[in-house]
Amino acid sequence: MRLLGWLLSVSLLFPATMRGVKFVRGKNYARVILRLSSPVKYEVGKIKRKGKTLLYVDLYGTNPGRVKSRYYFESNLIELVRIARKDMKRERAVIHLRNFSYYRVFYLPSPPRVVIDIFGKKEIKEEFTLSKQLGLKIKKIAIDPGHGGKDPGCINERLGLREKDIALDIALTLKELLENGGYQVILTRKNDSYLSLEERPAIANSEGADLFISIHVNWAKRSSARGIEAFYLNFATDSESERVAAKENETSSKSLSQLKGILKKIALNEKVRESKALSSFIQRGIVSNMKKFYKGIKDLGVKGAPFFVLVGAEMPATLIEVSFLSNSVEGKRLSTQIYRTRLAYGIYLGIENFVKSLEEK
Ligand SMILES: [Zn+2]
Repeated sequence: MRLLGWLLSVSLLFPATMRGVKFVRGKNYARVILRLSSPVKYEVGKIKRKGKTLLYVDLYGTNPGRVKSRYYFESNLIELVRIARKDMKRERAVIHLRNFSYYRVFYLPSPPRVVIDIFGKKEIKEEFTLSKQLGLKIKKIAIDPGHGGKDPGCINERLGLREKDIALDIALTLKELLENGGYQVILTRKNDSYLSLEERPAIANSEGADLFISIHVNWAKRSSARGIEAFYLNFATDSESERVAAKENETSSKSLSQLKGILKKIALNEKVRESKALSSFIQRGIVSNMKKFYKGIKDLGVKGAPFFVLVGAEMPATLIEVSFLSNSVEGKRLSTQIYRTRLAYGIYLGIENFVKSLEEK
């Protein structure tokens, strides 16, 4: 009885549980993700100890669940992450930093998680290297096939088609096209595996990718809805864009309003302009290529919307909705290999034109 009472009081005092700690790391970047069972109040601080910097995140009303007390790192930025009870009110995650230039901490809802990004010192590049003179700024491209594993994305049961398979198929073709074009390509997933939304841009960051391209298939309740559209990270300007963002974020439109603070901090920087340009080039690339082969290709344009998967990407980033799986004509087309290959080729053309536009500058 006493034990039960104790358990009850613990669960009342600390209603949120830590669900896990995840990492993505690269040469000059690391992301630590603290997963939680429910939203919590959190605080960030910094302590200097023996010339070292300890960054901490306090999670109020949180119990440690089954997380380990120590996570060691194979990283030049982070030595280790410790999870410990700070006092009666909070659980503390301490990140022992090695060599870093700056960090940022933000919260993402559903599922609740606190994300910590650590950036290393930027290598000082020579101002007039040969590659810059030639305008070869874009070398490495990260392709992100939407969904995967336990998350199928949208499904057309009648046609037996799932978004995750189509996105991966297009991504693999695009990879081949880009590699033949002399680019280096990184895939966030190479097969039918699950990857959380916040891990995807972190992979692109850790690999030092120059562009981030997330590939998705659209779905609408209205079966007549069809067309191609591209998005960059920004506040949504219309309810239709908000709908797409809510669908891809696996969350309600309502919780998108929580993102406003994050967007102010992260998204609204110089990358918005570049991401919008990248989205426009790719949109034009796909639409013009598909119009050569098919009737009734609808250009839905380029829009800003708050996609979790684009938050924190350190390079121009876009999310493409290649067609609607909910539409009978586009659904049938999506079932064919040739349609998918042509979509990939359209994206490739868009990337090529974007890169050319940079060279002309
Ligand atoms: Zn999707």
